Amino acid sequence: MTTTSTVKALGITVDNVSKLYYPAGQEPVEALRPVQLTIEPGEFVALIGPSGCGKSTLLNLMAGFDKPTAGSLYAGDKRIESPDPDRGMVFQQYALFPWLNVRENVALGLRLAGVDLATRHARADEYLELVGLKEFAQAMPSALSGGMKQRAALARAFCTDSSIILMDEPFGALDALTRGFLQQELLRIWQDHRKTVVLVTHSVEEALFLANRVIVMTPRPGRIKRDEPIELSYPRDPMAESFRELEYSILSDLKEELHAAQGLSTQKTSS
Ligand code: ADP
Ligand code: MG
Repeated sequence: MTTTSTVKALGITVDNVSKLYYPAGQEPVEALRPVQLTIEPGEFVALIGPSGCGKSTLLNLMAGFDKPTAGSLYAGDKRIESPDPDRGMVFQQYALFPWLNVRENVALGLRLAGVDLATRHARADEYLELVGLKEFAQAMPSALSGGMKQRAALARAFCTDSSIILMDEPFGALDALTRGFLQQELLRIWQDHRKTVVLVTHSVEEALFLANRVIVMTPRPGRIKRDEPIELSYPRDPMAESFRELEYSILSDLKEELHAAQGLSTQKTSS
């Protein structure tokens, strides 16, 4: 089925962005050291790196949930200063409102954008059908399994017709079968609509299965260690030699970073 998308994808510019946190009564935490990054409209970028390296920090800055300590971020040529329905976010824990039914949750972004009831419900239903939840439009979130909630969260992100979809380990908490299904769904929706997608993931395989560009970050303070265009054709086969070679090479880079991170933490505890 074809769904209606009216919005063009927008690129993201991260211009010399650094981020320090100042927890009360503690040393400042340097989460990001100047990051320079240009994401083209319609790209599918996977951000990967050791835990605590600043991936969520960078994604939250792109979403406008937080402000950089220095530098600036842009969606297209508009500076990112606060959240905007034009940048949809999918969290690891499906953030559905328990007092709204599934259809109302999916249509929420459209409601906030002032779209009339009939139109937004029709569009929500299109996307619910796309993720296999048509029969659950009127159910409350509490009646849904974890995988179904995450499908609803995906439907909401795409239904809002944002130009940019930001995803923070969206499949991390799911069983392997549901994860595989949702990865395929995401890929299909991205291929149909060519939104710009930035996906934070722990899994090199997931990054290579989905993204056309993989960015590997260093341990905190996060910087870009490797920026790799992935030119494998879709659908990708994780068993193919070209896939596995890339996977091995990125895993080696990550391992190197993990060792460096452990080195740092050893220094820390011994000092
Ligand atoms: P990742 O998503 O890569 O695991 P985060 O971006 O969540 O990493 O965090 C990067 C670093 O910043 C971590 O060391 C984390 O503890 C720290 N950090 C994140 N948010 C805050 C905060 N609000 N206050 C203080 N430190 C924070
Ligand atoms: Mg994180």
